[in-house]
Amino acid sequence: MAIKAVFLDRDGTLIVDKIYLNDVDKIQYLEGTFEGLKILSDLGFKFFVVTNQSGLARGIVQIENLDKIHAKIKDDFAREGIIISRFYYAPHMTDSGHFSRKPNPGMLKYADYDYGIDFKNSWMIGDRMLDVEAGHRAGCRSIILEGTEKVEESNFKPPEYIAKNLLDAANFIRNATKTHSQHLK
Ligand SMILES: [Mg+2]
Repeated sequence: MAIKAVFLDRDGTLIVDKIYLNDVDKIQYLEGTFEGLKILSDLGFKFFVVTNQSGLARGIVQIENLDKIHAKIKDDFAREGIIISRFYYAPHMTDSGHFSRKPNPGMLKYADYDYGIDFKNSWMIGDRMLDVEAGHRAGCRSIILEGTEKVEESNFKPPEYIAKNLLDAANFIRNATKTHSQHLK
Protein backbone atom coordinates (compact mmCIF):
# COMPACT_ATOMS: atom_id res chain seq x y z
CA MET A 1 0.00 0.00 0.00
CA ALA A 2 1.28 3.43 -0.89
CA ILE A 3 2.28 5.52 2.09
CA LYS A 4 1.33 9.09 2.87
CA ALA A 5 4.35 11.30 3.27
CA VAL A 6 5.39 14.74 4.34
CA PHE A 7 8.34 15.96 2.31
CA LEU A 8 10.42 18.44 4.25
CA ASP A 9 12.82 21.02 2.98
CA ARG A 10 15.82 21.29 5.33
CA ASP A 11 17.27 24.81 5.45
CA GLY A 12 14.79 27.45 6.56
CA THR A 13 12.20 24.74 7.31
CA LEU A 14 13.62 22.32 9.89
CA ILE A 15 16.74 24.27 10.77
CA VAL A 16 17.98 27.83 10.46
CA ASP A 17 19.35 28.45 6.95
CA LYS A 18 23.06 29.08 7.56
CA ILE A 19 23.73 29.25 3.77
CA TYR A 20 25.91 26.27 2.74
CA LEU A 21 25.92 24.71 6.20
CA ASN A 22 29.06 22.57 6.43
CA ASP A 23 29.47 22.14 10.19
CA VAL A 24 27.42 19.70 12.25
CA ASP A 25 27.83 21.92 15.35
CA LYS A 26 26.01 24.80 13.65
CA ILE A 27 22.66 23.01 13.36
CA GLN A 28 19.96 25.17 14.93
CA TYR A 29 16.35 24.00 14.94
CA LEU A 30 13.56 26.39 14.07
CA GLU A 31 10.69 27.08 16.43
CA GLY A 32 7.90 24.54 16.16
CA THR A 33 9.94 21.91 14.32
CA PHE A 34 9.74 19.13 16.89
CA GLU A 35 6.15 19.87 17.93
CA GLY A 36 5.01 19.94 14.31
CA LEU A 37 6.73 16.72 13.34
CA LYS A 38 5.30 14.97 16.41
CA ILE A 39 1.76 15.86 15.33
CA LEU A 40 2.37 14.69 11.78
CA SER A 41 4.04 11.51 12.98
CA ASP A 42 1.00 10.73 15.15
CA LEU A 43 -1.19 11.21 12.06
CA GLY A 44 0.75 8.41 10.38
CA PHE A 45 2.82 10.42 7.91
CA LYS A 46 6.29 9.22 6.92
CA PHE A 47 8.98 11.88 6.62
CA PHE A 48 11.44 12.51 3.82
CA VAL A 49 13.88 15.38 3.83
CA VAL A 50 14.43 16.73 0.30
CA THR A 51 17.17 19.34 0.15
CA ASN A 52 18.93 21.22 -2.63
CA GLN A 53 22.65 21.33 -1.79
CA SER A 54 24.41 23.18 -4.58
CA GLY A 55 27.17 23.85 -2.02
CA LEU A 56 28.41 20.36 -2.94
CA ALA A 57 28.81 21.30 -6.63
CA ARG A 58 30.46 24.56 -5.56
CA GLY A 59 32.93 22.76 -3.29
CA ILE A 60 31.74 24.78 -0.28
CA VAL A 61 30.08 21.78 1.38
CA GLN A 62 31.89 18.45 1.77
CA ILE A 63 29.95 15.23 1.47
CA GLU A 64 31.32 13.82 4.73
CA ASN A 65 30.09 16.92 6.57
CA LEU A 66 26.69 16.70 4.88
CA ASP A 67 26.44 13.07 6.01
CA LYS A 68 27.31 14.08 9.58
CA ILE A 69 24.71 16.86 9.55
CA HIS A 70 21.99 14.52 8.33
CA ALA A 71 22.98 11.80 10.81
CA LYS A 72 22.78 14.33 13.66
CA ILE A 73 19.38 15.63 12.58
CA LYS A 74 18.11 12.05 12.26
CA ASP A 75 19.38 11.20 15.76
CA ASP A 76 17.99 14.36 17.36
CA PHE A 77 14.55 13.60 15.93
CA ALA A 78 14.73 9.87 16.72
CA ARG A 79 15.35 10.70 20.38
CA GLU A 80 11.93 12.40 20.35
CA GLY A 81 10.30 9.48 18.55
CA ILE A 82 10.31 11.18 15.17
CA ILE A 83 11.60 8.97 12.36
CA ILE A 84 12.99 10.41 9.14
CA SER A 85 12.66 7.63 6.56
CA ARG A 86 15.34 9.04 4.26
CA PHE A 87 17.30 12.15 3.37
CA TYR A 88 17.50 12.98 -0.33
CA TYR A 89 19.77 15.76 -1.52
CA ALA A 90 20.43 17.34 -4.90
CA PRO A 91 24.12 18.28 -5.26
CA HIS A 92 23.67 20.04 -8.59
CA MET A 93 24.25 23.67 -9.50
CA THR A 94 21.49 26.24 -9.10
CA ASP A 95 21.04 26.70 -12.85
CA SER A 96 21.50 23.02 -13.76
CA GLY A 97 17.80 22.38 -14.27
CA HIS A 98 18.55 18.86 -13.04
CA PHE A 99 15.56 16.60 -12.48
CA SER A 100 16.66 16.07 -8.86
CA ARG A 101 16.91 19.72 -8.04
CA LYS A 102 13.78 21.48 -6.79
CA PRO A 103 11.56 22.93 -8.31
CA ASN A 104 11.79 19.65 -10.23
CA PRO A 105 10.19 16.71 -8.42
CA GLY A 106 13.09 14.23 -8.76
CA MET A 107 13.78 13.69 -5.06
CA LEU A 108 10.08 13.13 -4.36
CA LYS A 109 9.93 10.68 -7.25
CA TYR A 110 12.91 8.75 -5.90
CA ALA A 111 11.04 8.40 -2.61
CA ASP A 112 8.17 6.97 -4.63
CA TYR A 113 10.48 4.45 -6.34
CA ASP A 114 12.00 3.53 -2.97
CA TYR A 115 8.87 3.47 -0.79
CA GLY A 116 5.72 3.91 -2.89
CA ILE A 117 4.07 7.25 -2.15
CA ASP A 118 0.39 8.20 -2.13
CA PHE A 119 1.09 11.66 -3.51
CA LYS A 120 -2.55 12.76 -3.38
CA ASN A 121 -2.51 12.44 0.39
CA SER A 122 1.02 13.74 0.82
CA TRP A 123 2.41 17.19 1.48
CA MET A 124 5.51 19.23 0.75
CA ILE A 125 6.63 21.83 3.31
CA GLY A 126 9.33 24.39 2.56
CA ASP A 127 10.28 28.03 2.89
CA ARG A 128 10.68 28.74 -0.82
CA MET A 129 8.41 28.69 -3.82
CA LEU A 130 10.64 26.10 -5.48
CA ASP A 131 9.69 23.74 -2.65
CA VAL A 132 6.03 24.49 -3.24
CA GLU A 133 6.46 23.87 -6.96
CA ALA A 134 8.37 20.60 -6.48
CA GLY A 135 5.50 19.35 -4.32
CA HIS A 136 2.92 20.34 -6.91
CA ARG A 137 4.87 18.75 -9.76
CA ALA A 138 4.91 15.48 -7.83
CA GLY A 139 1.16 15.70 -7.19
CA CYS A 140 1.25 16.76 -3.51
CA ARG A 141 -0.30 19.70 -1.76
CA SER A 142 2.25 22.26 -0.59
CA ILE A 143 2.74 24.58 2.34
CA ILE A 144 5.20 27.46 2.50
CA LEU A 145 6.64 28.76 5.76
CA GLU A 146 6.47 32.53 5.73
CA GLY A 147 9.48 34.76 6.08
CA THR A 148 11.86 33.78 3.29
CA GLU A 149 9.95 34.40 0.07
CA LYS A 150 6.86 36.28 -1.02
CA VAL A 151 4.32 33.99 -2.63
CA GLU A 152 2.89 36.72 -4.86
CA GLU A 153 6.29 37.48 -6.39
CA SER A 154 6.61 33.98 -7.82
CA ASN A 155 5.33 32.66 -11.13
CA PHE A 156 4.74 29.27 -9.57
CA LYS A 157 1.28 28.17 -8.51
CA PRO A 158 0.67 29.35 -4.92
CA PRO A 159 0.76 26.93 -1.98
CA GLU A 160 -2.36 25.53 -0.35
CA TYR A 161 -1.36 27.29 2.87
CA ILE A 162 1.08 29.87 4.20
CA ALA A 163 2.23 28.81 7.68
CA LYS A 164 4.01 30.67 10.46
CA ASN A 165 6.21 27.67 11.27
CA LEU A 166 6.19 23.88 11.14
CA LEU A 167 3.78 23.60 14.07
CA ASP A 168 1.27 25.82 12.28
CA ALA A 169 1.75 23.77 9.10
CA ALA A 170 1.16 20.53 11.01
CA ASN A 171 -2.06 21.86 12.55
CA PHE A 172 -3.27 22.84 9.09
CA ILE A 173 -2.55 19.35 7.75
CA ARG A 174 -4.30 17.79 10.77
CA ASN A 175 -7.42 19.84 10.07
CA ALA A 176 -7.28 19.10 6.34
CA THR A 177 -6.88 15.39 7.04
CA LYS A 178 -9.82 15.44 9.48
CA THR A 179 -12.09 17.22 7.02
CA HIS A 180 -11.11 14.77 4.33
CA SER A 181 -11.86 11.65 6.39
CA GLN A 182 -15.19 13.08 7.61
CA HIS A 183 -16.09 13.73 4.01
CA LEU A 184 -15.49 10.06 3.17
CA LYS A 185 -17.93 8.80 5.83
MG1 LIG B 1 14.81 26.19 2.34
